[in-house]
Amino acid sequence: MAINNASHILIAGGAGYIGSQMNKALNNKGYRTIVVDNLSAGHREFARWGEFHRCDLGDVEGLRSVFAGYSISAVMHFCAFTYVGESVEDPQKYYINNVKNTINLLQVMREHGVKRFIFSSTAAIFGNPVEIPIAENHPKEPINPYGRSKLMIEQILEDYAGAYDLRYVALRYFNAAGADPDCDVGEWHDPETHLIPLVLDAALGARENIAIFGTDYDTPDGTCVRDYIHVADLAGAHVAALEHLGGGGQSDAFNLGNGKGFSVREIIDAARKVTGKDIPVVEKGRRAGDPAVLIADSARAMSVLNWKPAHADIEEIIATAWRWHQKLYREYKKSPF
Ligand code: NAD
Ligand code: UDP
Repeated sequence: MAINNASHILIAGGAGYIGSQMNKALNNKGYRTIVVDNLSAGHREFARWGEFHRCDLGDVEGLRSVFAGYSISAVMHFCAFTYVGESVEDPQKYYINNVKNTINLLQVMREHGVKRFIFSSTAAIFGNPVEIPIAENHPKEPINPYGRSKLMIEQILEDYAGAYDLRYVALRYFNAAGADPDCDVGEWHDPETHLIPLVLDAALGARENIAIFGTDYDTPDGTCVRDYIHVADLAGAHVAALEHLGGGGQSDAFNLGNGKGFSVREIIDAARKVTGKDIPVVEKGRRAGDPAVLIADSARAMSVLNWKPAHADIEEIIATAWRWHQKLYREYKKSPF
């Protein structure tokens, strides 16, 4: 195959929720992109920019043939299985996809001399917080295989960067939320477990109500508090990380959130305001493994990467999700909602 010599960014998982927003952001900035995705959870329609290769990260030969076709300056890695409960029930599935397959990707990068890597990590690496807000040096004691799989990759990256010619940035997202402000791509998980899309399902009438998992937490209204960060701001942080590495910056890890927490009840109230709909609620028991409060301290990302969220307002976040959610049912799910 002839090598395309123009420099490309390879986006593994670029047909998913966050990776597709990333692909759009990079193309808007003039980067050339290649999406690699097996479409296990992603959507071909979301890989709308750059080039697309359907390939599983378990398929090393397939990866080699993609890498052989381009000059690649950096890899952004969004692929993972992401359901905490499933990771407890079937940890092997998580360790194979999130750990082994990431090692495959790093191996093929090395073989092709690709030296910059940006990794989708998570607040789940911290486990139950002992301090709020959560800064980068907070103890890392994940409480489920999903969180452990992500921490393992952070540790592997540290070792690889020490031994090989690799520089990386690990970005630990808190709760990714919202959709592309132009509504080109957005959140479409199946099954959906995240609070905001489920609340919007209830607003649309696609489900009867939203369950609140736990009303007896040690929080102002008894429900869990989370730090919701707009998906476009996550993409912006990746661009900043790419520029950091491109400018010779050191390998590093950053926590990404807005630094402000919203309870489950506050999210439902904000969604009622944004949608103008009644959203019926049922109160249920706690969901296993949910810490009461998760709020990021993102000061380091702001100072080192010069990153600043542009869509921090929770009603704006929910409004972008609401516009997308209606389009999702109308144009993709082809349902009456
Ligand atoms: P997603 O499921 O929408 O996207 C992941 C994409 O990777 C999908 O398109 C899927 O088809 C693809 N994929 C998975 N395994 C693959 C494999 N073996 N080979 C090729 N493609 C594969 O998930 P998302 O919500 O966009 O999350 C992206 C990343 O961010 C994940 O690594 C996740 O752990 C991390 N993260 C997400 C959140 C969140 O709130 N959504 C929070 C913290 C961290
Ligand atoms: N949650 C809820 N009802 C739902 C889904 C989620 O009460 O149907 C709560 C969940 O217990 C957590 C918060 O909403 O406290 C955010 O959950 P989500 O699954 O969106 O993200 P997580 O914090 O688990 O990454």
